[in-house]
Amino acid sequence: MTENDFNRRDFLKVLGWGGTAVALSGCGNTSIQDGQETVTSYVELPSYVIPSISNYFNSTCAQCDAGCNIMGRVREGRVLKAEGNPNSPINRGKMCGLGQSGVQAHYNPDRVRQPLLKGEAITWDKALGVIAQNLSAVKGAEVAFLTGGMSGHVQALLGNYMDALGSKNHFSYEAISPAVLRAANKKAYGVSMPRYRIDKAKVVVSFGADFLGAWVSPVHFTQQYAQFRKGNRPEGRGVLVQIEPKMTLTGANADRWIAVRPGTEGVLALGIINALGKAGLSIPADIAAVSNAYTAERVSGETDVSAEQIGKLAALLKERTPSLVLAGGAVEGYAHGSQNATAIALLNRVLGNVGKTVEATASVPFPQIAPTVGNRSSLIGLNDGLAAGKYKVVFSYGVNPVFSAPASLKFRDNFAKAEFKVAFAQYMDETALAADLVLPLDSAMEDWGTVVPEYMAAPAEDHSAAYAQMSFRQPLMQKVFPDTRGVGDILLALLKQREADKYKEFEDFYSYLRSAVLKNKVALGGKATDDDETFWDNTLSQGIVPFKGIANPVSAKASAAGLKLPSAVTADSSYPLRLIPAVSASMRDGRNANEPWLQESPDPLTTIVWDSWVEINPKTAAKLGIVEGDIVEVASKSGSIRTQAYLFPGIHPDAVSVPVGYGHEAMGRYAKGVGANVFGMLDTVFDKETGELALNETSVKISKVGQRVIIVKEEGPVGGSQDGKKKIAVQVSADKVDLSKEV
Ligand code: SF4
Repeated sequence: MTENDFNRRDFLKVLGWGGTAVALSGCGNTSIQDGQETVTSYVELPSYVIPSISNYFNSTCAQCDAGCNIMGRVREGRVLKAEGNPNSPINRGKMCGLGQSGVQAHYNPDRVRQPLLKGEAITWDKALGVIAQNLSAVKGAEVAFLTGGMSGHVQALLGNYMDALGSKNHFSYEAISPAVLRAANKKAYGVSMPRYRIDKAKVVVSFGADFLGAWVSPVHFTQQYAQFRKGNRPEGRGVLVQIEPKMTLTGANADRWIAVRPGTEGVLALGIINALGKAGLSIPADIAAVSNAYTAERVSGETDVSAEQIGKLAALLKERTPSLVLAGGAVEGYAHGSQNATAIALLNRVLGNVGKTVEATASVPFPQIAPTVGNRSSLIGLNDGLAAGKYKVVFSYGVNPVFSAPASLKFRDNFAKAEFKVAFAQYMDETALAADLVLPLDSAMEDWGTVVPEYMAAPAEDHSAAYAQMSFRQPLMQKVFPDTRGVGDILLALLKQREADKYKEFEDFYSYLRSAVLKNKVALGGKATDDDETFWDNTLSQGIVPFKGIANPVSAKASAAGLKLPSAVTADSSYPLRLIPAVSASMRDGRNANEPWLQESPDPLTTIVWDSWVEINPKTAAKLGIVEGDIVEVASKSGSIRTQAYLFPGIHPDAVSVPVGYGHEAMGRYAKGVGANVFGMLDTVFDKETGELALNETSVKISKVGQRVIIVKEEGPVGGSQDGKKKIAVQVSADKVDLSKEV
C-alpha cells in the first residue's frame, strides 16, 4: 500500500500505457488512438510492480454517502476489486455489495465518453466555451447548481465557483435522505447525527431503521452489530427488536419483528413510555403529561400492536440497560414524520440512553469541506424557482431528479424551462438526457478528491468525541475512457474562466488538492517541520487523515411539548392501502442501477432479481383475489405503475411496498426498462415541520390487469430448493400462462 519512493502520478502514467489519450477498454484496446499515445514499456517496471502480483491503493468508496475507506486491488495497471480498509473506523475492513459493484461503474460500457452538446460530441474547449457564453448572458442570481450531498475539496471549489458567479443557489438534494431524523435529533440531542452505539446496548429497539441494509452507514453498523450479538460481551448477547410496517433486512435479523400500522410508530413509542411508567420507571413530568393518555388499550387499537407486546417491550427495556432506540426512514415519511421521530427520541431520554448509547460526535473545523447534506425540500426550492423562471442556467452533478422527483412536481417540465442546462454525468441518465450539455465524468476509481463523512464514526479503541477524519480518493488506474474528466478538474477550469489569476498556479485539481492539504498540514495532524512530500505520500498511502475535530456533546433535551400525533392515519376508501417505497441495500435511490451485479443480486428478503415487485400481505391479497405473479396496477392519485405481485407476510395488511431505484427510461443497458419507477407516482405531501417530501404519504389501490408471470427469483417459483439444489426460474411471458389453470 505504501508507494515509498515513487510519485503517484508517475505511477498512473507508467501502468502499462501512459499519456493523456490512453484508454484501457477491454482486451482489444479498441479505443487506443493511433499516434496519440505514449507507450511505456513494461520492461522498465517501477520497483513496486511485480507482474501477476497485486498492488493495493487506499481510496474511498463513492457508491453511497457513508464514505467507507477502501483498498483498490490493482494488477498490471487495472483495478480488479475493492476491499475494505482495515484501518478505517467507518467500515473496519469490510464493504457491502453495493460498494463492491463500484468496479462495474468504473468499467461500465454505457459511460458517457465525450462532452455532448444536444447529443453531438464536441471537444472540452468547445464545451467550456459554450458554458462561458451562456453564463455571460445571465446574472449570478439566475444560475443554480444542483448536487447531492457533498464534502471535501470539490465542495470547497464549488463554493468558490458559486461565489465567483455571484450565486447563492446551491441546492443539495438526496432522494432518500434522513433529513427529518437530522432535524428531530438536533432538537432531541443537540446534534443532528450523534454516534449510535449498537455495540454497547443490551437491547436495540429499532423503529424502521434498516441499519444492516441501507440506513446512514450500514457497513459501520454491521460491524457494531457483530459485537452486539457476541455472547461473551460484558453486557451479554444483545437483543434486537425491529418495529416497522414492512420487514427490512434488519427486521429479518431481529429476535422479535413487530408489524405496526403505517404511521403510528410515534403513538407506539408513547404507549411504551406509558407502560414503562406503569412498570415503575420514573418518567419526567413533561413527558408523562403527554404519555399518560397513551394507554395500552388505546395504543393497541391504533397501532395493531397488542397490549401484551407493549407490556413485554416495556419490561425488556426496563430490565436491560443501557438500551438504544432508533428511528429510521420508515417513521420519517409522513406529514407528522418529525413528530414520530421526536416521540421515539423521548424513549432514549426516559431510558437514560443519551450519553451512553447516543454519544457525542465531532464536526470538522473547516466549514468549506464539512459535509453539506442533501434533502428533498432543497429540490422543491429549485423546482419552484424553475417553475417561476428564476433560473436560466442550471448545473447538475451527482443527482438524477428527472428520475427521482414525483411526477406531480412536474420537475421535468420545469427543468426544461431553464435556457441552458449542464449535467455532469457518468451515464446518459434521465437528467443528462434532458440537459443541453453533458460533461462526461471520471469514475470514482479515476478521480481525485476528499470526503468528510456526515456520520463520523470513531475507532473502536478510541471513541473520543473529538475524533474526526478526512478520507482521500485517488485514481486506482489510468482512465478507461480518455476524454472524461474529474469533477474537480471541471470546476477548476470553470473557475479559471472567471478568476484566472487566482487559480493560475494550479495546473489541475490534483495540484489544488495537494496545495490545500499541505497548507493545513498541522490542523490535519502533521507537524510544521514535517517534509511536505513525505506528509503527502503518507496521506495517500493511508487514505485516511485523522485529526482533532470539534466535539459536539449530546444532551437529553427531547421534549414532549407540542407533540401532536394523529390518532391513526386515516385511509381514503378509494385508495385504501398505504404505499411504502422500499429502499434496498443494493438499489438505494437507483443511481447505481446500471451496475448489473446489483440487478443480479437477489433481494435478501424476496430473492427477486432483475425486476420490481409489489409486496402484499397474503390476507390483503386474498381479499383482492391476487396470487403471486399477478401483474397488478398500483395506482395513486398522482400516477400508477404495473408490476408483479409478491405475497409476503412481512408487511402490514394495510400497506403495500414497492422498491425504489427501478424503472429507468434511460441510463444504460442494464437499467433501462427494468422494473417500474415508484418515485413518479408519489403524492406531494410534506412533513409539517421540515417541509420534507413525505415518502410514505401516498395511498394506493391495487387491481389485477389479467396477466400473470412466474417471478424470477433465486428461491424458484415454488420456494426453497430441491434436494438442496438451487434453481432459478425463468420469466414466462404473461400471454403464455393459462390463467384458467391458476387459482
Ligand atoms: S456502505 Fe457500501 S456503498 Fe456505502 S460507502 Fe460503504 S461500502 Fe460503499
